Amino acid sequence: MMKKNDIITVYIEDIGVDGEGIGKAEGMTFFIKDALPQDVVTAVVMKLKKTYGYARLLEILTPSPHRVLPLCPISRKCGGCQIQALSYEEQLRFKQNKIRNNLIRLGGFQEEQVDAWMEPMMGMDYPYRYRNKAQFPIGTDKEGNPIAGFYAGRTHSIIPVEDCYLGVEENRKILEILQSFMKEKKIPAYDEKSGRGLIRHVLIRCGFTTGEIMVCIVINGKRLPFSEALIERLSAISGMTSISLNFNTKQTNVILGEQVETLWGSPYVTDYIGDIKYRISPLSFFQVNPIQTAKLYQTALSYAGLTGEEAVWDLYCGIGTISLFLAQKAKKVYGVEIVPQAIADAKANAMLNGITNAEFFVGKAEEVLPEFYRQKSAEMRMGDGGESGKALSQNHSMLHPEVIVVDPPRKGCEVCLLATMAEMAPERIVYVSCDSATLARDLKYLCGRGYEVKKVRGVDQFGMTVHTECVVLIQRKHI
Ligand code: SAH
Repeated sequence: MMKKNDIITVYIEDIGVDGEGIGKAEGMTFFIKDALPQDVVTAVVMKLKKTYGYARLLEILTPSPHRVLPLCPISRKCGGCQIQALSYEEQLRFKQNKIRNNLIRLGGFQEEQVDAWMEPMMGMDYPYRYRNKAQFPIGTDKEGNPIAGFYAGRTHSIIPVEDCYLGVEENRKILEILQSFMKEKKIPAYDEKSGRGLIRHVLIRCGFTTGEIMVCIVINGKRLPFSEALIERLSAISGMTSISLNFNTKQTNVILGEQVETLWGSPYVTDYIGDIKYRISPLSFFQVNPIQTAKLYQTALSYAGLTGEEAVWDLYCGIGTISLFLAQKAKKVYGVEIVPQAIADAKANAMLNGITNAEFFVGKAEEVLPEFYRQKSAEMRMGDGGESGKALSQNHSMLHPEVIVVDPPRKGCEVCLLATMAEMAPERIVYVSCDSATLARDLKYLCGRGYEVKKVRGVDQFGMTVHTECVVLIQRKHI
């Protein structure tokens, strides 16, 4: 009988959804973090269930032909990059298979069907240095020196990081300046356990097209002493556009508080995706990989098949990123988003680009759309005669748009939203997904309501990690 702490030798056959290696020992299936397909490894048994277990990697006896040397010396400890040791080509294959398997297993679609839908994954030209945003926690080492870094996988202890290869090179310089400033002026880092100390995090954003840089320092207090000295050094960095403080005095692991004060320069940075310019403030959501995002939106736009005459709904629209992209080719776009600040940004971004055919609504997609649909269709049925022809035709195109785009968070769409979408009967639905498991579930529902999947395309937004993004074209069946 196998037991905890036994040492096993395993040939890794497969890779799990979180990037862990999967192989068999004595008839049991084991999940082993940091082991890769075709490795032969030794591992120590950590946890046993009836037919499977978890083991910790000890030694790689024979390395997989797909194994590469990670650029980052702490990739295993950090845990942010689960598959940095896998060649990039294999990473893309892993992601393509993850989407495929979820559609088959969870969506209940046939293998041949899925293979016919799937277009090749769009990978990155250079899968490092792609992130335009970094958030480093600040802490104190044993000698009392300030450190900046990342939380070690699933814990809250900070591993000092000199340079993260997913982020821009400027991050390093900014961290150095902040740490030496803290040391010199004896400004303490925040301590999570006691709730004392001042500096909690630093948020850095970089506009890839514009070269504009934002530094936002999150503090546990109301002011930063000697801030002029810090500003003087940070503002000397080429591209520096915005330096701000964010106030977070709550004992929580939420990084940002609600208030921001600009210390120097502009309150935001700007960047482009395609031809559209976006204004990004410290609190707004913006896609972290702008180069791949352009490819993702281009794919969504081509799936939407717009000619300039269409009404389009963009649900979960954030700061209007996809809406404004679509507005260039549609007659009218309606965006829905739950965060009011994001909608304010969406409106400002529309103005900034001179886009007048986009309208935005604050609320939950699963409430706004069904309520709107119920109310307007009742009004249309009653036809009180008071409405002009123009208003009627606008109501009609909002109720029955040609295209609906959705880009939900990982949990996917609520059933009541999917039901309303099907009732609105758009010709095409474009589903942008960051979790192919919930995507598969939602596609299964739509396919039972008169729709069929036409195309699926993965776009790698998060190289070195297991996160997988894809876009799907869903078409209404005409019988
Ligand atoms: N399409 C945008 C944002 C996608 S992220 C872009 O590409 O930038 C998903 C967005 O959905 C977030 O902005 C989040 O705030 C929003 N959201 C989460 N739950 C929601 C809900 N129930 N209804 C509407 N929006 C929601």
